[in-house]
Amino acid sequence: MQRHDVVVVGAGLAGQRAALAAIQAGRDVAIVSKLHPLRSHSGAAQGGINAAVGKEDSVETHTYDTVKGSDYLGDQDAIEFFCQSAGPTVVEMEHFGTIFSRGEDGSLARRPFGGAGFPRTIYAADRTGLALLQALYEHLGTQPYTLYEEWDLLEVVVRDGRVQGIVALDRRTGEFAEIAAKAVIMATGPAGRIYGRTTNAHSCTGDGIAASYRAGAFLKDMEFVQFHPTALLESGILITEGARGEGGILKNASGERFMTRYAPHVLDLASRDVVSRAIVTEVKEGRGFPGGYVHLELMHLGKERIESRLQEICDFSRKFAGVDPVTQPIPVMPAQHYMMGGIGTNLRGETNVPGLYSAGEAACVSIHGANRLGGNSLLETLVFGRQAGEAAASYVATAPSPVLHETDLDQAVTPIRSMWGRTDGEDPQRLRTEMQTTMDSLVGIYRTAGELEEALRQIRALRQRFARVRIADTSAQFNLNLIDALETGNMLELAEVIVVGAIARTESRGAHSRLDYPKRDDVAWLKHTLAARGPGGPVLSYAPVTMTRFEPKERVY
Ligand SMILES: Cc1cc2nc3c(=O)[nH]c(=O)nc-3n(C[C@H](O)[C@H](O)[C@H](O)COP(=O)(O)OP(=O)(O)OC[C@H]3O[C@@H](n4cnc5c(N)ncnc54)[C@H](O)[C@@H]3O)c2cc1C
Repeated sequence: MQRHDVVVVGAGLAGQRAALAAIQAGRDVAIVSKLHPLRSHSGAAQGGINAAVGKEDSVETHTYDTVKGSDYLGDQDAIEFFCQSAGPTVVEMEHFGTIFSRGEDGSLARRPFGGAGFPRTIYAADRTGLALLQALYEHLGTQPYTLYEEWDLLEVVVRDGRVQGIVALDRRTGEFAEIAAKAVIMATGPAGRIYGRTTNAHSCTGDGIAASYRAGAFLKDMEFVQFHPTALLESGILITEGARGEGGILKNASGERFMTRYAPHVLDLASRDVVSRAIVTEVKEGRGFPGGYVHLELMHLGKERIESRLQEICDFSRKFAGVDPVTQPIPVMPAQHYMMGGIGTNLRGETNVPGLYSAGEAACVSIHGANRLGGNSLLETLVFGRQAGEAAASYVATAPSPVLHETDLDQAVTPIRSMWGRTDGEDPQRLRTEMQTTMDSLVGIYRTAGELEEALRQIRALRQRFARVRIADTSAQFNLNLIDALETGNMLELAEVIVVGAIARTESRGAHSRLDYPKRDDVAWLKHTLAARGPGGPVLSYAPVTMTRFEPKERVY
């Protein structure tokens, strides 16, 4: 059995930054990742990373914009710390070798992003995530650590009230193994594949969130799901907010710049929840194009600017929608993009389970509250990745040695063996597709009690069917049928938490928009949802939001 002080699950920006911090504190660190680190979804991030670095901008404004963007559900102490850490974090990444785009005078170029009072999104053309990920990965390569590549986390083992390690699957051999660790940092990223129409990669299945929930961690604010306003019509591939940051505008079928009606001051650069609702309303009220979509126009920006600042957007539009943004509008509709909720942590990345930490999109600190601002998530991975790494490193200094038993492995693996043993049963792919259809059609941008209740009934029925899931492929190596089943089980568990939280929250705040409760209700609902796993499903409780300087006001853009 392998042993380490700290096991980081996930090798995206959050996992790598957490690992670096723990290694630098002198700990023996391992990273477990189901993908090669550079294939993590962080590498798909396009538009940029926020930091108030210019003379005209300020940490104060970044803080206020983030609080307002969160619809006042973000914890203000965490947001203050986050925005103060932004400048040093970006400079550190630059010193690690990230090649950011530059202005004429050689300073870091910045573009305006939605919901931001100032152009503060620093970028590397429209490949910012990849630029950051490569630089961090190279830097991490100079440090001593063990990488378990193409290993899938199955379960976190908790005994005597604290973490003892994990059980994982080595995809390449098909062997199951235990890794003992005093601390586990969950940095497994997004869960967007719960939806069918999403900008998230196929690997974004929320495994670590689900495993932490099973291990006793609270999940926080899971009902808040972000829909990005502009994804390509058919494929759901993201068209970065940077396209509107560069001056792109949205138009309906009559050529009207409809955002003038929804956000008269900042128009196309209102926050994402506002723009997504505007697009869906235009289409619902018959002002979209036939088939249901709107146009994003970049043509007026000119070929040179479009092709230099938005290279990937040009490629994606040409290849996947058959349109050239230099001469034609891009057909777009919203798609699931980000989970504001996740494993509940404090500012140090600590969860309620001793020895279990989390950072990045899998975690909920919470700085995004009910709605995340574009460019704040890349920053979050780095700021709170480091926090979690440092906190775990200091915890292991005094934590007792972890003890794993053979029964821990058996407990995790027995259900899998029974999935293999069946001669007939449910196909995991089919259950996944049905779950995605339910979530797309009933738990989307606008929600009602009736639709959410129906979604819960359908998700619970799918969970029952999942108990009879069958893995038809019996091969050991790279068994994708098995991976599919594991991921689908995790996503079904999280889908239930999302829906239960959404039914309970009888108000509209940020991305959670209830047609039957259209107003924000600060008296009853200015609080975080916490979900614990009970025998009959999620058990909800609530926790206060930390306020420091900013009193809730109506949000107008
Ligand atoms: C298309 C797209 C564009 C975006 N653009 C921006 C942007 O411009 N600016 C911004 O701020 N944010 C952006 N975001 C959001 C941001 O990129 C993500 O929230 C962030 O990068 C997530 O980083 P992470 O380290 O938490 O997770 P990831 O980078 O997704 O890494 C997750 C890691 O966990 C591992 N993992 C998952 N499950 C398991 C398992 N069971 N066992 C072992 N390992 C596992 C994976 O192998 C991977 O290494 C974008 C997101 C998308 C989808």
